[in-house]
Amino acid sequence: MQTVTTPETPKAPAPAAVQPFKYPLERQFVEPDWTRIPGYRDVSKSDWESALWQRRHTIKNLKELRAALGALLPEALATSIERDQREKATMSILITPHMVNTMNTDDLWGDPLRRYMLPAFDDRHPVYSNHPRASRDSLHEAEMWKVEGLTHRYPTKVLAELLSTCPQYCGHCTRMDLVGNDVPQVDKLKFTVAQPERWTQMLDYLRKTPTVRDVVVSGGDVANVPIAQLESFVSQLLDIPNVRDIRLASKGLMGIPQHYLQDNVMAAMERLARKAFERNVDLALHTHVNNANQVTPLLGKAARRLLEMGFRDVRNQGVLLRGVNATSRDLLELSFMLLDHARILPYYFYMCDMIPNSEHWRVAVWEAQKLQHDIMGYMPGFATPRIVCDVPYVGKRWVHQVAEYDREKGISYWTKNYRTGIELQDPEALNKRYEFFDPLYTLPESGQQWWRANANTEQLAHSIHA
Ligand code: SF4
Repeated sequence: MQTVTTPETPKAPAPAAVQPFKYPLERQFVEPDWTRIPGYRDVSKSDWESALWQRRHTIKNLKELRAALGALLPEALATSIERDQREKATMSILITPHMVNTMNTDDLWGDPLRRYMLPAFDDRHPVYSNHPRASRDSLHEAEMWKVEGLTHRYPTKVLAELLSTCPQYCGHCTRMDLVGNDVPQVDKLKFTVAQPERWTQMLDYLRKTPTVRDVVVSGGDVANVPIAQLESFVSQLLDIPNVRDIRLASKGLMGIPQHYLQDNVMAAMERLARKAFERNVDLALHTHVNNANQVTPLLGKAARRLLEMGFRDVRNQGVLLRGVNATSRDLLELSFMLLDHARILPYYFYMCDMIPNSEHWRVAVWEAQKLQHDIMGYMPGFATPRIVCDVPYVGKRWVHQVAEYDREKGISYWTKNYRTGIELQDPEALNKRYEFFDPLYTLPESGQQWWRANANTEQLAHSIHA
């Protein structure tokens, strides 16, 4: 006998699933209108696009900030920034009008750029504003100087700090020990060897060290090196046969793109790009953009010009900062803005280093691992940024490379596979475990109690170790 089955009543279609992150982005790619800001109301387009005008009007103190923002700056915020400068800040105020213009002036308390360029006392954690193990020069770069300003930390790579100033100062600067002006909390380390002697010593070291193939030319920020001097230094680097990769480090590409759009700067960059290409050397520029709001047409124009003239790449090395970009949405928006509008490769996001008073910006390793997980798969693999932890005495490690992790005390342990420049005689260097620390307020109560018992109150609240 044949069995007759009744067809099932078709189910209603499942509701459309929604991607956790939506692309294309809804945000626009426009230069914000600077005339909305009281201090810039009468500034012409040609002045705004002039590097000289931007430098002359760069804000250096609270008085100038008040003059620029007028009634847009809440009085309570101004007072809090002033208190922070007196009691906590490790960098002085320095911010270009171009950067001010990328802030949300309707909500300066909550604005991501304001939160790291103009830190306020009330932004900081009320109990744990400092980690007991934070230190000046937390990466020990000066300890690894081969000549003054030349850090040899990795086997084949060096960092050349040409100068100690920038066109802008970031509150979380990892080189707060050396970079910028003295502030009430910090007397900065000063170079003692005069330039150009210092630069000559760097070049001599590189000529006689064939194991080095990769030079990061930094500072500070190379946008503050007079262009003829920068061209001469980089050109001499290009004459060293073992140097195969040169990366110019400049947050100024974002902070003051007008600098890079000047004819004399572009002409020098073009000559360097041509020479690099002829010598089979990869010349790239590494910038530092932390939030999608900072990707504007002027940045896009400057980055594209560098690519047009033969730079191998323009790459972004952002810093992962709570309240600025530490959500998967923030990181993806920034990465897509960089890729789609400026052809800048989203290369790294560094975890914020363990410098003094940086706790409210820092995220825990487990948070960074979750963020790395959540941003995978949206962009091409080559353009998916890696979130890295720069572990003292180790160097960059992908956040999933942690060897052991005590979540209760927030201590992660890392290993390495090379000796830094100061460990060439140390037989144990590759067998040790190196520590990194989560912010204490991310720990369970038992972990916080352990730290309270093992660190003094002054270290927890406020301390700048030599
Ligand atoms: S631009 Fe770089 S070196 Fe200069 S203050 Fe900012 S983070 Fe520090």
